[in-house]
Amino acid sequence: MLAISTAPKGVEGEGFPVRRAFYGLDQQVLDPFIHMDQMGEVEYGPGEPKGTAWHPHRGFETVTYMIDGTFQHQDSTGGGGLITNGATQWMTAGAGILHIERPPEALIASGGLFHGIQLWVNLPADNKWTPPRYQDIGAGRVTLLASHDGGALLRVIAGEIAGHQGPGVTHTPISLLHATVNPGAELRLPWRRDFNGLVYVLAGRGTVGARRAPIRSGQLAAFGAGDVISLTADLTQESRSPNLELLVLGGQPIGEPVAWYGPFVMNTHEELAQAFDDFRRGRMGTIPAAHIGN
Ligand code: MN
Repeated sequence: MLAISTAPKGVEGEGFPVRRAFYGLDQQVLDPFIHMDQMGEVEYGPGEPKGTAWHPHRGFETVTYMIDGTFQHQDSTGGGGLITNGATQWMTAGAGILHIERPPEALIASGGLFHGIQLWVNLPADNKWTPPRYQDIGAGRVTLLASHDGGALLRVIAGEIAGHQGPGVTHTPISLLHATVNPGAELRLPWRRDFNGLVYVLAGRGTVGARRAPIRSGQLAAFGAGDVISLTADLTQESRSPNLELLVLGGQPIGEPVAWYGPFVMNTHEELAQAFDDFRRGRMGTIPAAHIGN
């Protein structure tokens, strides 16, 4: 194992609380991933839920996994819908898209629990100009697996683990899963040698790696090439989360230069300048006439 980092707290969009899961880690350790926010977990009062304004993306994919609560989205291609309670939206921004992400009006009025992940997956140069595409992966479509002793439940969202394929289709080889590990249980995951490996703790306490380094909610462990991903859940957990909840992800590094600024992830500074210019000129699409939000 290479490192354990702690995600600082921040705010995103119009002011919803996040933890910056990848903060402080080298791009090379993260490749093919760019960025990850844990959204919440937060219990909103009435009127408090917040989202984003309309904004563009180009050159990568946004993966939104809602664990509790609902996000509503709408985009410049006429797409839209709800991401709710265990569902994942895998959006390929590709050549460019404008979208808005916010809780639906009824949820803004009522408040409630809001907890999810937004992961940014880079696209190789050959795929950066692909047309935008959605994959809506409902909670019922994930591949459910149990560990050999039944102490851990795995939800494979995309890619493959131990020969079991998840529903998400990716442009480069990636595995993404949500694991729930019972108190005292151990989880050992076979992992491709050519993949990096990242374990982010959504809730709870445990240990990671052969040396059993302690890890807790809001921390990320980065594994090196060829490591087996091994974890244990502490016998005693927080009362609000009886199990150790983890996001486990990895992929084959793309190995290309990354030029990232704001909502655009390209290969060169020239392509970034072009992205800002194209956005200003409306070439990434326009806000539909019948639209939500501002
Ligand atoms: Mn967005």
